[in-house]
Amino acid sequence: MSSGSRMARAVIDYLPKGQSLPEEVWRVRHRTLTYLLRAHVVAIFFYGLARGKGAAHSAAEATIVASFAALATLTQNRKVSSGATALGLVASSAVLVHLSGGIIEMHFHFFVMVGILTLYQDWLPFLAAIGFVVLHHGVMGALRPQDVYNHPSAIAHPFRWALIHGGFVLAASAASVIAWRLNEEQALKDPLTALPNRRLFHDRVGHALVRTQRVPGSVAVLFVDLDGFKDVNDSLGHAAGDQLLIAVAERLRASLRPGDTPARLGGDEFAILVEDLKSEGDALQVADRLLESLTVPFVVRNKEIVIGASVGVALSRCGDTADDVLRNADVAMYTVKTGGRGRRELFETAMHAAVVERVQLEQDMHRALEANEFVVHYQPVISLATGRIAGLEALIRWQHPTKGLLPPLEFLPLAEQTGLIVPIGTWVLNHACRQARTWKDRFADRPFTMSVNLSPTQLVQPNLVDVVKAALRSSGLAPGDLVLELTEGVMVDDATVTVDRLHELKALGVQLAVDDFGTGYSSLSYLRRLPIDILKIDKMFIDSIADGPTEAEFARSIISLAHNLHLETVAEGVEEADQVTCLRDLGCNLAQGYRFARPLDVDGIAALFAAAEVSDGWHASKVSSQ
Ligand code: C2E
Ligand code: CA
Ligand code: CA
Repeated sequence: MSSGSRMARAVIDYLPKGQSLPEEVWRVRHRTLTYLLRAHVVAIFFYGLARGKGAAHSAAEATIVASFAALATLTQNRKVSSGATALGLVASSAVLVHLSGGIIEMHFHFFVMVGILTLYQDWLPFLAAIGFVVLHHGVMGALRPQDVYNHPSAIAHPFRWALIHGGFVLAASAASVIAWRLNEEQALKDPLTALPNRRLFHDRVGHALVRTQRVPGSVAVLFVDLDGFKDVNDSLGHAAGDQLLIAVAERLRASLRPGDTPARLGGDEFAILVEDLKSEGDALQVADRLLESLTVPFVVRNKEIVIGASVGVALSRCGDTADDVLRNADVAMYTVKTGGRGRRELFETAMHAAVVERVQLEQDMHRALEANEFVVHYQPVISLATGRIAGLEALIRWQHPTKGLLPPLEFLPLAEQTGLIVPIGTWVLNHACRQARTWKDRFADRPFTMSVNLSPTQLVQPNLVDVVKAALRSSGLAPGDLVLELTEGVMVDDATVTVDRLHELKALGVQLAVDDFGTGYSSLSYLRRLPIDILKIDKMFIDSIADGPTEAEFARSIISLAHNLHLETVAEGVEEADQVTCLRDLGCNLAQGYRFARPLDVDGIAALFAAAEVSDGWHASKVSSQ
């Protein structure tokens, strides 16, 4: 782009765009202006009579204006109709000036009309009116100056006076045009970041496609969705979230070339229009630069916040409309989001099918809850000292009507993203508590705890404590027999919400466990601050535990740390006999894994409980299911 055309574009950017009024708003304003026009028809007739022009003359003058009013009401075309109204209103000014014999004060009528016409927020009626004023003063003023001015000097120098009047009309309209532009900005700009909003962005993409004559690959749209923005909002509050969005908008602007257009589509979604591309590599480079720029932590309220983004890139293809390109970028972004985040991906047609499948899965999941398709399996937690079942962990499965029994990892991530995890989690909690109570009644001589996994989303629900309380009350399970498992991530984030929530849960008398310990974060200070009872050592550390002293070192440190803090330890994912020996040596209290038992359905667990003796821990491994 040359500097000349760039400057022209900057000027055009500064002017209002026109055509920004939604149909409904336009209709209301248009109706008001046509009423005003019709009122002028009547007023002109009576003003003519009052000025002693006679009925025929007055009617003729009123008819000029009436014909514009008729055209404005007859046509459905927005342009023609607003143009006719505009011309009718300034023609009223001219007629009034004429009827008054060119009284100079009557010219004020023009000023008012031109200002009022900016209500259309459209250049056509506005310029039609200005054109009329220029012609009226220039042509009529020159040919019949006494009809336009009652002023001897004006009659002598009609052009000079036409210029003076024209200048004033323009100056007066400038104020209205500014108001018009500000008005437009509100409709087209995101108030928080001052970036173009979805509507304007859509418009720009459309124009870019037209300008490049839809040459494939010359225009790209990037969809940017922040990862973890919701957490910032939930933990630091909306004001902090807003600050972060403003800072992100700044980063986006800074990482783009001057010709690229960033926009905020809403929430934590941004988009970028990139034009004049040479190759698809260019578009990916923009995406990389952008991701790179977001890796530097943000500082909001004196807190460092690390936030990533998922970027979907779509190149314009032959015959694409703005809608097509935007949708493709969205699909690509969605694909990134669901496949690991923090990356960028170029749209491919195959992505569509995958997205459709996920949407289907989401709908299925909604239905599954109502149709009772979820089931809970239970995996025993074994006491390494006694070899007995010390607890059970409730693990959800989905008995899908066509796909069979689905493991949680195939649907929980989506449930987490869509918020459906909240009702699903509540269902598991209630179900597990009731089942625990039933078993406790039936096998009164086998004490055990029931562990239920809580997702991060569940933890931030304001009513979580009530939900847990209700599950305990309705099942009759003693609070001390319920263990709630939370992943490390939610603990480290020391938002007051989390800390308070955990203390409230603890106050109910339930036990709290840190799940997958060791996989998340390096800071361990939360272990002292939070009311935790149990550490579940992730399978990762158990896998190699029997390979040698170095490999066992992590597990050893975790176990001794836990003991110092008076926490119990559960080794997860124990599969081998020598791992069990090792864990016993390290002083680990509890273990869970295929070595002892896989997660079992209700009958499987009942069989274990019923078995005469489970004392050596190996017994359970003989009972297996899927
Ligand atoms: P988790 O909480 O770490 O659960 C343990 C997972 O490890 C279970 O997988 C279990 O079957 C598996 N496992 C146990 N022992 C062994 C072993 O010896 N070897 C191997 N390779 N795996 C073993 P599952 O049931 O597929 O659950 C996966 C994850 O889904 C769970 O990980 C948990 O994070 C989540 N999840 C399951 N049910 C729920 C639920 O009701 N609510 C929530 N929020 N999350 C759940
Ligand atoms: Ca767990
Ligand atoms: Ca785990």
